[in-house]
Amino acid sequence: MKSWPQVYIPPIDGSFDFPQLRLFNTASGSIEELPRKNLYQMYVCGITPYDATHLGHAATYITFDLINRFLRASGARVDFVQNITDIDDPLFERAKRDKVDWSELATSQIELFRGDMVDLHIIPPKDYIGVLEAIPMIVDSISKIRESAPTYSVDSDLYFDVHSDSKFGKRSHLSKEEMLEIFAQRGGDPARVGKRDPLDALLWLNQRDDEPGWDSPFGKGRPGWHIECSAIAMHYLDQDVDKQYSIDIQGGGSDLIFPHHEMSASQSKAMSGKEFARSYVHTGMIGLDGEKMSKSKGNLLFVSKMVNEGVSPMAIRLALISQHYSHDRMWTQSLLDDAVVLLEKLTIALSREEVAPTKPVISKIIAALSNNLDTSGALDLLSKWSDKTLEGSIGGEAGELSRAIDALLGIAI
Ligand code: ZN
Repeated sequence: MKSWPQVYIPPIDGSFDFPQLRLFNTASGSIEELPRKNLYQMYVCGITPYDATHLGHAATYITFDLINRFLRASGARVDFVQNITDIDDPLFERAKRDKVDWSELATSQIELFRGDMVDLHIIPPKDYIGVLEAIPMIVDSISKIRESAPTYSVDSDLYFDVHSDSKFGKRSHLSKEEMLEIFAQRGGDPARVGKRDPLDALLWLNQRDDEPGWDSPFGKGRPGWHIECSAIAMHYLDQDVDKQYSIDIQGGGSDLIFPHHEMSASQSKAMSGKEFARSYVHTGMIGLDGEKMSKSKGNLLFVSKMVNEGVSPMAIRLALISQHYSHDRMWTQSLLDDAVVLLEKLTIALSREEVAPTKPVISKIIAALSNNLDTSGALDLLSKWSDKTLEGSIGGEAGELSRAIDALLGIAI
């Protein structure tokens, strides 16, 4: 699948010291320092293209973009891969409801998503891969799993024994009862008769009436959700660079902690023998005016619609990073208004010929971001720097700060 156009990233003066990035790892339950490496491999779960980018998606992809930007600015290479779940129940259901062709619906929403990512200044993945194009590698991955771990069929549908991974459940820290409940809510089938364990993961679904199917050694059908990400991540990211982990960062919203990331990790481990990710990083959910934002409530705010109505994508980005990425947080008009005010103040300050010292503020922004992406701390520093500049403080170089804000925060002024 075509990725979106490259985003320009201005260079940062090499004299700045970059502390190692520290991130909260859901699996360990603590903030951990990433080891210093020349190459980081990051996989971020993509959208199911039945709806365009809502603010929750935007917040998630901006967060991993900040990680990408920080690591690159520190001198490392980041190989970033993202999928598109373009074969999935919600997509088929929406297409049926709206009486449109599911692949045409997916194509139109992916196009919209690409445009939103460009508007929000998200660095594109090196590989942006749809399930549709990944079927051969997913089939290969399932065959590999079948050689090394127990799998079984229920009415021609193929399942993976999740407990063959001794670490199953230890990344998400949930009790069996909690796992069963969440699994049922998020597309799982714990009540299906014939499963050896209610939590076992679907690898391959035999073709159903009115649904597309692809040939495979396990019959004509389509892949389960979790295997798609295991297969795409392990195919497009180098599996030979690290003895202990398949990739460095597995990312997504906190609604993917279980079952998706847990099951993907167990399946990947069955293939490689290695733990899937060094760090499992999750972003909080975005609510609207005190309520959970969800498709069932019909209160989703879409980036493309907001931009069409005249909201600046940079203000959306700034508003979404004004609170910590890991917290569930509310979107309100005042959050956006505050972002617009800060953006204007910063633009006025940066356009002055004489500005307050810039090197110290850049160093402090780098330090704040290295601390589990303290973006609100970084924005505070920028607000104070703008105030000082507008009060007449001098000694800095506006271009240097402007480039740093763009390179590190993805805010182009
Ligand atoms: Zn995924």
